[in-house]
Amino acid sequence: MRERKIMIVGAGPTGLTLAHELLRQGVQVRLIEKAPSASQNTKALGVWPRTLELFARTRTGIAQEMLDLGVKTPTFHVWSEGKRLIHLDFTHHLADPYRFALMIPQTETEALLTRHVLDLGGTIERGTELLSLTQQGEGVEVMLRHADGQEEIARTDWLIGCDGAHSVVRHLVGVPFVGKTFPQRFVAGNVRMQWNFPPDEAHAFLYRGNTIAFFPLPEAFRYRVVITYQPGEAPRERSRWKRSSMPSRPMGVLPERALRNQAGLIASSRISVGSSTMCLDASSWPGTPLTCSPSWQHRA
Ligand SMILES: Cc1cc2nc3c(=O)[nH]c(=O)nc-3n(C[C@H](O)[C@H](O)[C@H](O)COP(=O)(O)OP(=O)(O)OC[C@H]3O[C@@H](n4cnc5c(N)ncnc54)[C@H](O)[C@@H]3O)c2cc1C
Repeated sequence: MRERKIMIVGAGPTGLTLAHELLRQGVQVRLIEKAPSASQNTKALGVWPRTLELFARTRTGIAQEMLDLGVKTPTFHVWSEGKRLIHLDFTHHLADPYRFALMIPQTETEALLTRHVLDLGGTIERGTELLSLTQQGEGVEVMLRHADGQEEIARTDWLIGCDGAHSVVRHLVGVPFVGKTFPQRFVAGNVRMQWNFPPDEAHAFLYRGNTIAFFPLPEAFRYRVVITYQPGEAPRERSRWKRSSMPSRPMGVLPERALRNQAGLIASSRISVGSSTMCLDASSWPGTPLTCSPSWQHRA
């Protein structure tokens, strides 16, 4: 029987995981990615136990490598006006062996998965963008554009869209974004700082509908800070941090990288149309990279 051709569009965590899984089963894939190099943007951080369980089942060492790289975060606290409103203790609510959320930057997750894909003989065709697709009989004809501007027409039996929140595959096959959006903005950045909380805890501070949250990153004194705010209202860290009466104030915050984003949530889609399937993100985060602004520098 003829080997079926599979093309995966997008080498983010979803596309890499799928490519790895198919390669592991002996199925060859063509994995294309429009970005010329791996993104270094500040993106996702939290990996949940179910993901670790699924990776552990593959017996490829991925789960252990993630555990070695990440920070096991057993508790999450939510504060307002100096009072603790919520204390989530994952050690009580989750079953063995992963009684924590694992904090590991998406860049590291992608690098790790990329290594495993390459180890299985896979390749990532970087700088290759899907432009269009047409269902033809039992397969799909696609138009690709390479980094040098050359266009290629290719045929595949299955096309799998792992191309993120604004999935071109989803648009091209005419599947609507099912869900709702809400107009909230946020700034996310990596900082180095010290405070009196244990280094493996996550804390969020609420203040009049806005939030500042701190998640531990690998390496001592490093945190991911996420500040949410309403559209049109730029965050004023100094005043907000003072007024939110945080029980332990950060001391000497030094920014590393930051990203300003507008969040549009929430849809979860796993849909097939003809020979095209989409493995889409549960959340969508249209992002615009932003360099660190001086307003991030804060002294208590
Ligand atoms: C600031 C921020 C914080 C986040 N925090 C968390 C978190 O803590 N926990 C969590 O679970 N999630 C979080 N997320 C969401 C998380 O980033 C996504 O869930 C995750 O990236 C989804 O992976 P993906 O592979 O489906 O899509 P993506 O990571 O978006 O990857 C899609 C890939 O497809 C490529 N692509 C797109 N179009 C084409 C095309 N036409 N041709 C070829 N390639 C294409 C893109 O270049 C990209 O590399 C966060 C996101 C942001 C922005």
